[in-house]
Amino acid sequence: MRYLPLAVDFLDQAVLLVGGGEVALRKVRQLIKSGARVTVVAPEVNAALRASVLESGGTVYQRAFEEADIDAKRLVVAATDTPSLNQHISALCHARHLLVNVVDQPDLCNVIFPAVVDREPLTIAISSGGSSPVLTRMLRARIESTISSNYGNLADFAAVYRTAVKQAIAEPAQRRHFWEDVLQGPVGEMVLSGRREEADALLAEALQENGKPSRGEVYLVGAGPGDPDLLTFKAYRLMQKAEVVLYDRLVAPSIVAMCRVDAERIYVGKAKSDHAVPQQGINELLLHHARAGKRVLRLKGGDPFIFGRGGEEIEHLAAQGIPFQVVPGITAASGCACYAGIPLTHRDYAQSVRFVTGHLKDGSMDLDWRTLVNPEQTVVFYMSLTGLPTICRQLMAHGRAAGTPIALVEQGTTANQRVFCGQLDNFVAMIAAAKPRAPTLLIVGEVVKLRSRLAWFGADIPQQE
Ligand code: SAH
Repeated sequence: MRYLPLAVDFLDQAVLLVGGGEVALRKVRQLIKSGARVTVVAPEVNAALRASVLESGGTVYQRAFEEADIDAKRLVVAATDTPSLNQHISALCHARHLLVNVVDQPDLCNVIFPAVVDREPLTIAISSGGSSPVLTRMLRARIESTISSNYGNLADFAAVYRTAVKQAIAEPAQRRHFWEDVLQGPVGEMVLSGRREEADALLAEALQENGKPSRGEVYLVGAGPGDPDLLTFKAYRLMQKAEVVLYDRLVAPSIVAMCRVDAERIYVGKAKSDHAVPQQGINELLLHHARAGKRVLRLKGGDPFIFGRGGEEIEHLAAQGIPFQVVPGITAASGCACYAGIPLTHRDYAQSVRFVTGHLKDGSMDLDWRTLVNPEQTVVFYMSLTGLPTICRQLMAHGRAAGTPIALVEQGTTANQRVFCGQLDNFVAMIAAAKPRAPTLLIVGEVVKLRSRLAWFGADIPQQE
């Protein structure tokens, strides 16, 4: 490790920045954030750079660099586009054992700026020792996506309780375990989601009960319609955290595979005719594992609160006093519509959209068809493959035009996605011939026509029509 990462206090420290262009501007932001007193010297100074430096209490000299500028500075940054000047500044600083950074020229530097993930007061610095800024930026993007933007709150929270916990738990190893439990468990999750008062109460309780096993919790998480790239950052973070995962058939195997490697995985079925574990059983399983002190992930296809029975599952947990969180996911309607090139609303064609279940109960569909025939409303039917003939027939019987465009999206957003488009009076025969496989979604309305215009934007949109 040639470059030693140090977290240096730069509050009110004098820094010289030589250069007045875009490159200097990029550097100055970080310097100002750290509270440094920045002096800029350059014959020409970019307006944005001047404004930020002056606003932060720094100084701007619009003239050429002079050797005396580096007097009494802790750090010098050379960001000019004159190589000989950069070299000169670097040599002067090295002679005086001053910290110097020359932008994009690691051989002239004795310090380099790492890429930073800023979760004040928590800071993560990533450096490749100047060998590949692109690589460090890529890594930073990965870390940014897994560490909640609220992580700083967690550090603030820990700072507040640090002394109290030290007094209450004298033994260091025991204290470390306590903090691990607190920061990774329900208290930490509450702080991250902004529920500070509940977190305070739970921490006080935990301090009193210290020594007892930690309480479990449940995350009800929407996994989106299929493409793993459509997971939210929060979903991904909780997937890394949970020790037990309950998932059903709608959750793509590639998504289940992204859960923590050592997590116990429990398949709870839920294909139409395959209730591997009935709903009551799922509720009991969630409760059982949470009571055993586990962090339990309930992964749902799409969004847990849209035809997901998510409400029922957490009602049960709430009644038993188990902490839980619900994380929204991209529902099949938005996922399929986007990946099929069909906007669900459009200024000229549809001013509203309805999400409706097409599930057949005792062979029939109990829907108020009159509210579904407005030509300026898009209707999306979930769970509608078996009920397709009934849907087309009833819509026409209640006044929707026979020529109304309709699309069926099969396994939307996955590599197997297929899209079939037709109109209400010819669609049943068309789909019978195509034999699509679940899950499928129906989109009814004039907006389906736009697909032919928008499809070319997505090269990967298959063209079955
Ligand atoms: N909570 C889920 C919906 C569960 S109901 C959500 O928000 O998406 C199950 C229905 O969702 C299926 O019958 C199907 O109509 C629809 N569905 C889910 N994933 C789908 C996909 N990848 N492609 C097409 N339809 C899908």
